[in-house]
Amino acid sequence: MYNSFAAPQAKGKAANDIIFAANALAVADAAAIGAENVTNGTIGAILDDDSKLVCLPTVEAVYRNLPINEVIAYAPIAGTPDFLEKVQVATFGKSRPNGFTSAVATTGGTGGIHHAIWNYTEAGDTVITADWYWGAYKVLCLDMGRKLDTYKMLTDGGTFNLPALTEKVNALLAKQNSIMVIINTPAHNPTGYSLTTEDMEQVVAMLNKAAEETGKQAILFLDAAYIDYAGEKDAVREVFKALDNLPERVLAIVQYSMSKGFTMYGQRLGAMICVTSSEAAAKEFFEINQYTSRATWSNNNRAAMRTLVQIYSDDALLTAVEAERDHYYKMIKARADIFVEEAKACGLPMIPYIAGFFLSVPCANSQAVCDILHKDHIYLVPLAAGVRIALCSIPLQKIPGIAAKLNDALKAV
Ligand code: PLP
Repeated sequence: MYNSFAAPQAKGKAANDIIFAANALAVADAAAIGAENVTNGTIGAILDDDSKLVCLPTVEAVYRNLPINEVIAYAPIAGTPDFLEKVQVATFGKSRPNGFTSAVATTGGTGGIHHAIWNYTEAGDTVITADWYWGAYKVLCLDMGRKLDTYKMLTDGGTFNLPALTEKVNALLAKQNSIMVIINTPAHNPTGYSLTTEDMEQVVAMLNKAAEETGKQAILFLDAAYIDYAGEKDAVREVFKALDNLPERVLAIVQYSMSKGFTMYGQRLGAMICVTSSEAAAKEFFEINQYTSRATWSNNNRAAMRTLVQIYSDDALLTAVEAERDHYYKMIKARADIFVEEAKACGLPMIPYIAGFFLSVPCANSQAVCDILHKDHIYLVPLAAGVRIALCSIPLQKIPGIAAKLNDALKAV
C-alpha cells in the first residue's frame, strides 16, 4: 500500500476541475470529427467567430514594444507605484469611492481572492458566496482550511436575494469573529447577472447592521473580473458609489484582473484594492497583503504592469483599447441575443442574463443533461445548480439550436 508523503492538511487533495474535464472531452471530439462539427461552450476566454483566441490588438502592440528590461526585471513586491495608481483608475473609472483606498498587485484575480481569504478570515471560518459561483472559490477556501457556504442568489422574481444573504451573514456572525462575503459582479460568472447600485447599498447597510449588532466586522469582497465586458464603462462602475464613506465596521476589497480586460489570461496580473473609511485599515491592508505576496509568489509580472500603465497614461491608446473591448462585448452580446431569444421561444428556463462571458440554465442533474448534449457534439459545463454556457467561446454561427437541444435534454433527464 502506498504510504503518502503528504502532510495531513494536503493528503487527499486533487483538483478535479469540471471545466477542464468538459473542455478535454470537446477537444477529443474535435480531433476525431473536426472542430467545425463540435460546439465547445466550456472555455472562459474570448474566441472570435473563427474560433481564434482573441488578443486585443492595442494590448498586443504595447506589450510587444516594451523594452526587454521592462519584461525581465523584477517588480516591487506590492507592484510598481504607477501600476498601483493606474489600476485604480482602470477599476473605478469616474466612480472612485470616497474613503481611503490602497492597492496591491496580485497574480490575476485568483491571487487577490487567495490573499483576502488568508488575511481576513480565521482558520475554520466559513466564507459566503452565491449558490451560483465560480468553483475556484471553494478550492481556495478548502486549501486554506476555510469552508464555503452559499445563499440563494436570486429571488423567485429574479432579483438579488438580500434576505437569503442576510440570514447566512447573521447565522455565521453568531459563531465567527468576522464575516467575509464574496460577490462576483458585474457580469457574474456563471450567469451574467449584475447587482444594481441599490442592491450594493443594501448589502453594505445589511453588513453594517449585522456587524454593529454583534460588535464584529464584515469584509465585502467584490470580484470584478468581468467588469470590462459588462456594459457602458461609466454606467457599470456606478455600483462602486455604494462604497462611498463606508461604515467603520465594513471593509470592501475590489478585485481587478487583467485576464479578461486585457486578454492577458496567462500573464497573471491583477490587483486587490481596499476601500475603507479608516486610514489605518488601508495601511494595514497594504502591509499584510504585501507580506503574503512575499510569502507566496514574491513579485508579479512587470511587463503586464507596464502594459496597463502605458495604456492608462495615453488617451489615444486607451480609446483604442476601449473600442476593441466594445467590439468583443458586442460580439458576445450578439451570441447572447440569439440564445436568449431561442430560450424564450422554446420555454427554456434561464437565470436573467445582463452581460458577460457566460449564461446559465438552472436544472437538477446537470451532468446528465450535459452528457445527453454530447450526442449532438455540444459541450457545456455541468455545475451544482445547473448548466453553464460560455458565450465568449462559441462562434455566432454555432449558437442557433443550442437552446432547443438543451431544453430537450432537460426534459429527458
Ligand atoms: N473571478 C471569476 C469569477 C473568474 O471567473 C475568474 C476567471 O476565470 C477570475 C476571478 C480571475 O481569474 P484570473 O486569476 O485568471 O485573473
